[in-house]
Amino acid sequence: MEFKLTTLGTASALPNPKRYSSAHVINIRGHLFLIDCGEGCQVQMCRHGISPVKIEGILISHIHGDHMFGIFGLISTMTLLGRTAPLTIVAPESFRPILNFYNEHFAEGMKFVISYLPLSNKEPATVLSYRSFYIESFPLVHKIETYGYIFREKVPASNIRKKKIEKHNLSLAEIAQLKKGCDVLREDGELLEAKNFTYTPYEPRSFAYCSDTMPFPELTEWIKGVDLLYHEATFGDDKEAKAIEFFHSTARQAAVDARKAKVGKLVLGHYSTRYPDLHVLLSQAREEFSETFLSDDGLTFDIPLKKHSKD
Ligand SMILES: [Zn+2]
Ligand SMILES: [Zn+2]
Repeated sequence: MEFKLTTLGTASALPNPKRYSSAHVINIRGHLFLIDCGEGCQVQMCRHGISPVKIEGILISHIHGDHMFGIFGLISTMTLLGRTAPLTIVAPESFRPILNFYNEHFAEGMKFVISYLPLSNKEPATVLSYRSFYIESFPLVHKIETYGYIFREKVPASNIRKKKIEKHNLSLAEIAQLKKGCDVLREDGELLEAKNFTYTPYEPRSFAYCSDTMPFPELTEWIKGVDLLYHEATFGDDKEAKAIEFFHSTARQAAVDARKAKVGKLVLGHYSTRYPDLHVLLSQAREEFSETFLSDDGLTFDIPLKKHSKD
């Protein structure tokens, strides 16, 4: 049961010969979503073996070019490849005229439906829900309307502890009731408590994506306890004033939020071209949160499954 982030583009706004613009692929249990789609995204997808046809949804954080200039080319390629499966696009309401423009001028031959979900929520809200996971969006604080996303696995159904079946000679009806979380009172007065007979097979995992944003108080509460956090880190300590001016974060600020939110692991990205040696950013961040890592174009970060004991 895969759950992993691949960072296809880790540059910020200016062109960079070594990095592509913001684009990330989440593979959650075999379902593929693109988060942001900067220029060159589809080239990076080719390079890393990610088929445009397999992308189920594209989540755009905001309509700055470095986060979405790749979407027209990608949708066009999906059309050329004969895609028929519907494509979900989640983006701020401000994306609507951009999509309309595409549909007006470039959609000839498109055999799939684009289902567009416009965002305007002021607090975290579920935007998509599937059998075993769901996706939330939440507002960030940037120069223009911007959203972050959280992918969360749903709590799995309880399993019965097999050893208990024989020991207590459980009937099928009793097993069904216990698995639903209901206690069973037997005719002889014995109480079988569901919590002692069942277990959840694994701990639900989560991933949060914080695109361009300056720090703000609610954020740590909204991303609390996620296993993996991607957070922009455009600047280092030396440019904290610039970070405020442009509504961005420093690597240290990203790490402070990661620590306060008690996340499992922090991945930094969206680097300014002024830092040829990213270890400056990494060391500043690690002073605040040791489980910080640098993303790079094409790197993958797994969220391992934490299984619970059957016994
Ligand atoms: Zn950006
Ligand atoms: Zn931006």
